[in-house]
Amino acid sequence: MLLKIIRYPNPVLRKKCRAIKRIDSKISKLIDDMIETMHEAPGVGLAAPQVGENIKLIVIDIGEGAFPLINPKITKKNKTLQTYEEGCLCFPGIVGEVSRPSEIVVEGQDKQGKKTIIEAQGFLSTVLQHEIDHLEGIVFIDRVKDKTTLREVQKKEEVEKKELI
Ligand SMILES: [Zn+2]
Repeated sequence: MLLKIIRYPNPVLRKKCRAIKRIDSKISKLIDDMIETMHEAPGVGLAAPQVGENIKLIVIDIGEGAFPLINPKITKKNKTLQTYEEGCLCFPGIVGEVSRPSEIVVEGQDKQGKKTIIEAQGFLSTVLQHEIDHLEGIVFIDRVKDKTTLREVQKKEEVEKKELI
């Protein structure tokens, strides 16, 4: 089932999300619906608050297959920064440059509740950080240091798929 993606400045996007204690059928269904919604958008990542749920759940698909991550937490980040032009499904038509650590380690749980550790670099590192920020009520424009890089993209075709997280 497709879910409605909320738009900034909806206050849900500013709330800190709560941890998921039990992966019940409701959570499993939400994971499936979020993956469907991300693919349809189209986007490369989606966090639960973007569909109005203040819980620690993200789904990712950078073209290598979709996967969910429950209660994700960044446990390591390197000092080297990388810059990507980011956009967000909650900010249609706006992109801006964001610098983030190029390599991170993220711990979380998979759909079965099994502990998962992801070592991410490059674009996956950026996407994971963008989504985990959503769980803390942080949105990408907060991270745009040089506001002159913020720009409007008029046509949908001008926005690369990779920018929609
Ligand atoms: Zn986003």
